[in-house]
Amino acid sequence: MRVGVLALQGAFAEHRRKVENLGAQSFEIRGKKDLDRQMDGVILPGGESTVIGKLLRDLEMAGKLRTMILNGLPAFGTCAGLILMAQRIKGESAYLATMDITARRNAYGRQLGSFWTEESFGEEGKIPMTFIRAPYIDEAGNKVMVLASTGGKITAARQDNQLVTAFHPELDDDDTVHRYFLDMIKEA
Ligand code: GLN
Repeated sequence: MRVGVLALQGAFAEHRRKVENLGAQSFEIRGKKDLDRQMDGVILPGGESTVIGKLLRDLEMAGKLRTMILNGLPAFGTCAGLILMAQRIKGESAYLATMDITARRNAYGRQLGSFWTEESFGEEGKIPMTFIRAPYIDEAGNKVMVLASTGGKITAARQDNQLVTAFHPELDDDDTVHRYFLDMIKEA
């Protein structure tokens, strides 16, 4: 199993480490050509969505990546990656717009900009969750399955081949979410 990790900016190395520890292969997607490499899934990491979104456009990668995800490539977006995949972003225009959710950026405000908590994830029981200037999901379409909520706000969700978390599972010592994504790839 080979997972491409978008490596334009942000926390991509940590995602590679996670999936490789779970026995999958990974490689970095740094340009348009890398989208032609054989991959069974793609990870869009956290970072700064405005920066990654602009690079995706400047490098002419956005259209192709969008089509690949819409055609069923399993995709996992964390934090900024969630924002990139959202069909709607409160007050801003969307990027890849593949998933039927409305994201609110920097949604926890300044004081709660970064925090750590434990909440249940799907049927998996409680897992650690690190939030860093995180978004949350304001609205989710009826095809979207909510996997986690934090303070009453949706912070993890799945729609078919697409998985998003507002938090950073690659930064905690727990493999639940990456294992969940690799299982999605196996199902696909
Ligand atoms: N606040 C960032 C953004 O809006 C996301 C932060 C993150 O990925 N940790 O892009």
